[in-house]
Amino acid sequence: MINRSIEQLTQMIQLKNDVSEYHHVRINGVAFDTRLIKPGNLFVPLKGEQADGHDYVDKALEQGASAVLWQKDMPNPPENTAVLMVEDTLLALQQLAKSYLDQLNVKVIGITGSNGKTTTKDIAAAVFAQKYKVHKTEGNFNNHIGLPITVLSMPEETEVAILEMGMSQKGEISVLTKIACPDVAIITNIGEAHLQDLGSRQGIAEAKLEILEGLKDNGLFIYPGDEPLLANVDAPHSFTFGETANNEFYPVDIQMDEQGSSFSVPALSESSFYLPIAGKHNILNSLAVLLAARELSISIESMKAGLKSVALSSMRMEWHDGVKNTKILNDAYNASPTSMKAVISMLESLNVERDKVVVLGDMLELGDQEINFHVQMGELINPANIKYVFTFGPLAQHIAAGARKNFPENRVFAFIDKSELITTLHDKISGNELILVKASRGMKLEEVVNSFVMEK
Ligand code: ATP
Ligand code: MG
Repeated sequence: MINRSIEQLTQMIQLKNDVSEYHHVRINGVAFDTRLIKPGNLFVPLKGEQADGHDYVDKALEQGASAVLWQKDMPNPPENTAVLMVEDTLLALQQLAKSYLDQLNVKVIGITGSNGKTTTKDIAAAVFAQKYKVHKTEGNFNNHIGLPITVLSMPEETEVAILEMGMSQKGEISVLTKIACPDVAIITNIGEAHLQDLGSRQGIAEAKLEILEGLKDNGLFIYPGDEPLLANVDAPHSFTFGETANNEFYPVDIQMDEQGSSFSVPALSESSFYLPIAGKHNILNSLAVLLAARELSISIESMKAGLKSVALSSMRMEWHDGVKNTKILNDAYNASPTSMKAVISMLESLNVERDKVVVLGDMLELGDQEINFHVQMGELINPANIKYVFTFGPLAQHIAAGARKNFPENRVFAFIDKSELITTLHDKISGNELILVKASRGMKLEEVVNSFVMEK
């Protein structure tokens, strides 16, 4: 993590006060939350909607912070300690991260997209770790605060930094990419996520393309080539991935089961890659990573070893053995129409001797088309492949309504009460089923998963 003297910090961020008497003091690491602070940290008070970090500066100092930032319009800065006065603490945090990255000899991979950022980041970390010292975004720490904190927690000897860039508004990726200045920029896909704030898929595409604003000269841009909204991309050095042979990397000889997929990539080698996570969308995420890996001179053998070693962050495509010999696929980390469609179609295409059941909850933040999105999702579910549809939540009721257009009444169940859902689901299960659980984070559908797995 960042380890610098105050004197060095004065060159990295513009200070508004004279701190020469503290030049010898060192900071080791950065924290913006006193619950996470470690002795020696630089404490960065941020003004949030609910709380103002400046109210916690004394506490941070008590807990061993060796210096603190302070926004100059705030009254009563602490005395007799290393207080670094800045115009705006958030901007200073971002500037410090940018400057730290500039000082290191590190290649940066920036990843954005509507779905699959965290997954792609985790796949990339597994592949790049075959050759390089890798630092990656922890969990989902992907916004205007999380990204700089991720950068500042990076060891000096890091060779490849893999940074997830999330957004809910236009302009946010622009800020992140200008801090990270990626050598390789990846867009995983353009989905329907966050329509509420961005209006249209065109608007989403434009917002994701902001990642190019920070791409280094000669940097590589990797994007899904089958996406019409990205057809006119203007990037001098770019490669595409996708399902069709129009792309630089596309998969052939695909074999999928519930645990993962194997596939070949004609431009790479005849022999096949194995990825231990299921779903065609994850093959595509892997292709994006392999394009980046080729750019950074990773051998095909290392690409193979890397993909094989992938471990995902929790609640994304997690398989569990449940009661009554059921298999549970926990994808309850989050959901949007694109990701829900992808995982349902993956489930439908699995060739297994088990009845398949879907438990689907509300998809949030979809804007004024939210009901339509839910109805359409229900209409897409194929009664020939899926035995029961269970829904949870007021929006997901519309998934049930859509499903009833094709399913008989007695195979679709809609609930507002989670414990009622769990009871009915357990009653309907005879044993041996494959059960997919998916919803937006706020719906906490992992409780359904736990009801199967913990009782065992
Ligand atoms: P967030 O915006 O919450 O950070 P994310 O972009 O990081 O999301 P992941 O957490 O990797 O996305 O995956 C979310 C869900 O999206 C997964 O559960 C999976 O079902 C689905 N998904 C992953 N990759 C793709 C893809 N390429 N296309 C469509 N859906 C995908
Ligand atoms: Mg994520």
